[in-house]
Amino acid sequence: MKRERILIIDFGGQYNQLVARRVRECNVYCEIYSYKTDLRKLQEMKPKGIILTGGPSSCYEEGAASCDPALFEMGVPVLGLCYGAQLMMHTLGGRVCKAPVREYGKIEVTTDGKSRLFYHVSEKTVCWMSHNDYIEKAAPGFQIIAHTPDCPVAAAQSEERQLYAIQFHPEVLHTVEGTKMLSNFVYEICGCVGDWKMDTFVENSIRSIRERVGSGKVLCALSGGVDSSVAAVMMAKAVGDQLTCVFVDHGLLRKNEGNEVEEVFGPDGPYKLNFIRVNAQQRFYEKLKGVEEPEQKRKIIGEEFIRVFEEEAQKIGAVDFLVQGTIYPDVVESGLGGESAVIKSHHNVGGLPDYVDFKEIIEPLRDLFKDEVRRAGLELGIPERLVYRQPFPGPGLGIRIVGEVTEEKVRMVQDADAIYREEIAKAGLDKSIGQYFAALTNMRSVGVMGDERTYDYAVALRAVNTIDFMTAETAEIPFDVLVKVMNRVINEVKGINRVLYDLTSKPPGTIEFE
Ligand code: GLN
Repeated sequence: MKRERILIIDFGGQYNQLVARRVRECNVYCEIYSYKTDLRKLQEMKPKGIILTGGPSSCYEEGAASCDPALFEMGVPVLGLCYGAQLMMHTLGGRVCKAPVREYGKIEVTTDGKSRLFYHVSEKTVCWMSHNDYIEKAAPGFQIIAHTPDCPVAAAQSEERQLYAIQFHPEVLHTVEGTKMLSNFVYEICGCVGDWKMDTFVENSIRSIRERVGSGKVLCALSGGVDSSVAAVMMAKAVGDQLTCVFVDHGLLRKNEGNEVEEVFGPDGPYKLNFIRVNAQQRFYEKLKGVEEPEQKRKIIGEEFIRVFEEEAQKIGAVDFLVQGTIYPDVVESGLGGESAVIKSHHNVGGLPDYVDFKEIIEPLRDLFKDEVRRAGLELGIPERLVYRQPFPGPGLGIRIVGEVTEEKVRMVQDADAIYREEIAKAGLDKSIGQYFAALTNMRSVGVMGDERTYDYAVALRAVNTIDFMTAETAEIPFDVLVKVMNRVINEVKGINRVLYDLTSKPPGTIEFE
C-alpha cells in the first residue's frame, strides 16, 4: 500500500509529537525519525517533504545535534522549526547566536512579503515562541518573510531551493494560524494530496491482517480501555472467531465497568469475539493487603495481571499471534522512532512477553496517535461513549486509593467517582474538561451525621485541563456543581464524610492522585 509521507526529523524538542499530529490532522501521513538517521535511509522512503523539529541544543556549539548538509540538497522541500530553522540557517551560511532578548510565550509576528507558507495567514499573527538563540542573519540567498520586535528573522525562505525556516512553533495551538502554515507546507509546497484517512486505514488494515493471519489462532488481552478495544474489534472484523479475547477483571475498575465491557464485547454483544472474563478481584485484593507504597502497588497489580493472563493462555494452548495495543507515541517514546530521549521503557514495545506460547506479535494500532485510534474506533462502529472514554490507568483504582487498598475502599471510591462523573455530565461539562475523577485519600477525620459522631474518609475530586498530558491545570468547575457532588457523595456513600477539591496543577502535581 503506497501512501505519501512527510518525515519529521526529531532534534529532541518537547513538541515533536505535536508536529506529527498536526500534519496528520491535515490528512497527510508522517513518521518521526531521530536526527541520527542515515540520510540514505530517509531518501529511500521517498518523502514528499521533511520537517526539522525544535530541540534543546545550540547549533553553533560543539557536539550540537545536527544533520547531513546534503539533506538540504535532496530536492525535497524542507521546513525547519525553531532549532530546525536555526540549524538550517547555520549550516547554509547564516548566523545564529545567543539572542539579546529571549522570547517565550505568545508573540505577535509580522509576516513580510509573499510566501506560500503564509498563504491565507494574516499579516500580524500571534505565534508561540520558545528560544534562547536566534537567527541574527539569514543564510545567503534566503529572503526574510517574518519578524518580531526582538527577532529580525522569525521566518525565512529560499523558494527555488524549497527551503523554509521558522523560529516559532506552528504545532502549538497558541500559534493561532499554525495549522494553516503546516497545511500550506504539505499541500502548497510539498504537493501532497492528503491520502491519510481513517476509513481507508481501517479498510486496508483489516485486509492486510487477514492476509497475514491466514487460518492462524489469535489471542488478545482486552482491558476495556480505548486502545485494546479498538485493536480487538479490528482483529475480530479481520479474522472473526479465530480470535479469543481475555478480559481480566482485577476488581479495580470503575463502577460497573466490568459488566459494561462484557455487555459490549461478551457473547451477547455486537462483535463476534470469543470472550473470556476472568473474575480475579479477590486475588488482587489479597495481594494488595497491607501494601501502601504506590510504586509497589503498581508492580504487584502488573505482575498479578500477567499471572492471571498466563493461566488463561495456558488453558487456551499455543496460539499463532498475540495482539498488542501499542500506539505510535509508545513507539516514539521507547526511543525507536524519534529522539525525545527514552522517557519510559514501554511494556508494549520491544520486550516480548514469554508467558504466552505464541509465534508473532501483531500491533494493529502501531502507526496511530490516540486521536486517530479514536477515529478508527468510530469507523469500526464502536460506541462513542467507549471511544471517548476518560483515560484510565492500567493499575486502575489501585492507584486512586492513597495507602492500602481494600475491597471496602474500592467500593467507596467507585461510588464517589460515579456520582462525580454523573454530575459533571449533567452539568454539560464532560466534553470540555480534559480529565476528571475521584480519589480516596488516606485521611480519616471527625464529622457529625444525624447527630452522631463519624470518623470517616475524605474523598478528593480532581479535574484538570491539559493539551498534551505533559502539563495540566485545574479545571474551574462551577461552585454549585461541586456543592451538589459533595452533597450526594456524603449522603450516598457510606464511609465518606468529607469532600475536597484538588487545586494542584502539573507540575508540581501529577494528573493522577496516588
Ligand atoms: N535550543 C534552541 C534555542 O534555545 C532552540 C529551541 C527550540 O527549538 N525550542 O533557541
